[in-house]
Amino acid sequence: RAKSAGGNRFQLADPEADARAITRHGLTTALPAALERGEFFIEYQPLVHLGDGSVHGAEALVRWCHPQHGVLGPDQFIPLAEHTGLIVPLGRWVLGEAVRQARYWQERHSDGGPLRINVNLSPTQLHHPGLVADTVDVLERSGLEPGALCLEVTESALIGADEDLLKPLRQLAEMGVDIALDDFGTGYSNLANLRRLPVSVLKLDRSFTQGMQRHPADPVDLKIVEGIVSLAHSLQLAVTVEGVETGAQAEQLRELGCDTAQGWYYARPGPPDKLHALSLADAV
Ligand code: C2E
Ligand code: MG
Ligand code: MG
Ligand code: MG
Repeated sequence: RAKSAGGNRFQLADPEADARAITRHGLTTALPAALERGEFFIEYQPLVHLGDGSVHGAEALVRWCHPQHGVLGPDQFIPLAEHTGLIVPLGRWVLGEAVRQARYWQERHSDGGPLRINVNLSPTQLHHPGLVADTVDVLERSGLEPGALCLEVTESALIGADEDLLKPLRQLAEMGVDIALDDFGTGYSNLANLRRLPVSVLKLDRSFTQGMQRHPADPVDLKIVEGIVSLAHSLQLAVTVEGVETGAQAEQLRELGCDTAQGWYYARPGPPDKLHALSLADAV
């Protein structure tokens, strides 16, 4: 896009957008080598029981330590990896690492209860025919029981999903793997549709938690959350809330009947040792 300005016919209309496009292109082409060179790493964020604050498990969140750009968050490269298909080997790597780490934690402190691990799946991974076999393989190699794994799929990835797409998730659910509906409440899905999905956990999107920041909280927001929780529980689904940043929010969400929570109020995502220390401290 070029615009004639100041007599210079070739002046770029939006140099920043062009710079971003160049960066995006550079990152996309660098992805495969980055995986081979081991530039990705995982941070873990605890999920806690709202009842007593004890650690329930952790969500694995991938990061890229780029040699020039420093640490990049998933929002900066997951869409690119999705687009090129590299998400499949990258996702397999994340799953393998996270499951191994969970098994290690379990072995290290059996007294802390069964620590669970949550791993995100993107739409391309859902469509990949190797999903079930790869997951079974990773679980068998590590020795982690399927019931300790939770795969998170966004609500929008499952909107309008047909049986072909749901089949692998159903197979995993039958093995005992939990399936969570991530970012719930942002996808405008039909609530009645929930019955048809092989999910056992709803992860209420951060936007609901943010709505609770106001004092007093909007009574309509509270009613909506209360309604979602009661519907979820009547369908035997557990409710996790994302993005809890204050003690007041945690208290409010606990009163509304949410089961588990995740957010900066408890801990930011961090290296595995940090979570290990946290859950050990919790067990004594
Ligand atoms: P998500 O699965 O909804 O993960 C929660 C995001 O909220 C994470 O962002 C986390 O760092 C952030 N968060 C947690 N607590 C708080 C809080 O109290 N306040 C605020 N403001 N934010 C909080 P992150 O790590 O940047 O990840 C973004 C998204 O990238 C994830 O959203 C997930 O959809 C995707 N993602 C991360 N790792 C993977 C992966 O291994 N594979 C795939 N396919 N997607 C991934
Ligand atoms: Mg998630
Ligand atoms: Mg989420
Ligand atoms: Mg989210």
